[in-house]
Amino acid sequence: MKKILQDLSYAEIEELVLALGEKKFRAKQLYEGLTQGKTIGGITSLSKAFKEKLLEEYEDEPVKIKEKYLSADGTEKFLFEYADGNLVEGVLMKYKYGYTQCVSTQVGCRMGCKFCASTLGGLIRNLTAGEILCQILVVNALHKEDAAGQGKEARAVTNVVLMGSGEPLDNYDEVLRFLRNVTAEEGLCISARNISLSTCGIVPKMYRLADEGLPLNLTVSLHATDDETRARTMPVAKAYKIAEILKACDYYFQKTGRRYYFEYTLIEGENCDEQHALALVKLLKGKPCHVNLIRLNEVKERDLKALDDKSAYRFLGKLEKGGLSATLRRQIGVDIGGACGQLRAQYIERV
Ligand code: SAH
Repeated sequence: MKKILQDLSYAEIEELVLALGEKKFRAKQLYEGLTQGKTIGGITSLSKAFKEKLLEEYEDEPVKIKEKYLSADGTEKFLFEYADGNLVEGVLMKYKYGYTQCVSTQVGCRMGCKFCASTLGGLIRNLTAGEILCQILVVNALHKEDAAGQGKEARAVTNVVLMGSGEPLDNYDEVLRFLRNVTAEEGLCISARNISLSTCGIVPKMYRLADEGLPLNLTVSLHATDDETRARTMPVAKAYKIAEILKACDYYFQKTGRRYYFEYTLIEGENCDEQHALALVKLLKGKPCHVNLIRLNEVKERDLKALDDKSAYRFLGKLEKGGLSATLRRQIGVDIGGACGQLRAQYIERV
């Protein structure tokens, strides 16, 4: 595989441009073109000779939109294809204030959560920073007429969630590089405050993230109130206990001043009886956190059932009554295989 220019920071692009014997201002044209989602070949301000030199070593189009689905509620789902043929998916959710894109950080995943489709075939490979960024660049370019915001912050994609396939903290260095590049002034310039990183709770990496000086929204997939229940659906629970996760969250708050979030997927007969609601209140009461309850997207390969709506609202009511800040996440894009890894799994099955 060729290298990927979108892996590079602005400073690195400058170095490259100079090393290839071009004037420094070409770096701005190149970086701007890439940020606009153009292929190298498609950046008209650069000379043909320079582009040919770049193309000898660098991928022209690191990611292609292979398939696109539009949900009745406006949500879009993408199947992206990389140069080596690997596929990941992404979702674009449209809100009044702008568009939120859900990106993937790995092809597949090795965390093995029982309810998740991304993990069905294990981890295939990590994505590089540029491969993650390109998911946003191509979708942003596709919707450029919908740009919100002013000046350099005028772009369609205003918010990013790292909640697609993969465990972001299992691909730490590339994810961090991606975060630095996507928040960079010269690039898409998406504020870290508008980015949420979701992890299944890899504790040492949570501490590392807290020390990076990035005011991200940290979201932890909790899905249970005790380690034994958690380990039944999430193998990672055998390595890191809930108590350790909560300590790491507190450290995150101390370092960043940002409140943190928990995701709690409601799985019938598993984690959402009254006793679980009370245990969740006991566990989290008084902490600077918010709980997002998620309806299980049933994955056909897994024998887990979603909780009915009425019970889901009752569970939410118990949390609120107990003093927690909590919401039941609206379910969007269900008609287009909205759950992590579902689309890729369906595609692989189809061909
Ligand atoms: N690896 C990260 C990102 C995963 S996806 C993590 O574990 O947090 C984002 C969220 O969707 C996680 O909370 C994950 O547990 C949840 N999820 C995965 N599959 C799901 C499904 N089928 N239904 C509902 N939520 C699911």
